[in-house]
Amino acid sequence: MSATPDPEAGRAGHLAHAARAALEVEAARLREELGEPIENPGQMTYGSQAAAASEVFAQQRDLALRDRERIQLRLVQEALHRIEDGSFGTCVDCGKPVGAERLEAIPWAATCIECARATGR
Ligand SMILES: [Zn+2]
Repeated sequence: MSATPDPEAGRAGHLAHAARAALEVEAARLREELGEPIENPGQMTYGSQAAAASEVFAQQRDLALRDRERIQLRLVQEALHRIEDGSFGTCVDCGKPVGAERLEAIPWAATCIECARATGR
């Protein structure tokens, strides 16, 4: 690789490149998990009430997990769009840089750490 004239632009480009790879892996994982059918507790054989209750609990936990995965997938897709349109790494709330360390830890982060703290996200 040759020397980059603008080290800041090179760093941002590298960050977006690394983030895109991480985001695509995450999107594929989430799509796969969301594509799997949820077991229906109505179709199982009822051994005991306790077993039935734990089965319902497991299904509710699965559904809660799926809600989180759906939200997560949307965040990942939005981050990929921001890479496409060149706004990746800029806080969607205040327009300041999100920060390389934060993006390396959370590539789908849409807001800087200050805005994330302020909104509780
Ligand atoms: Zn911000």
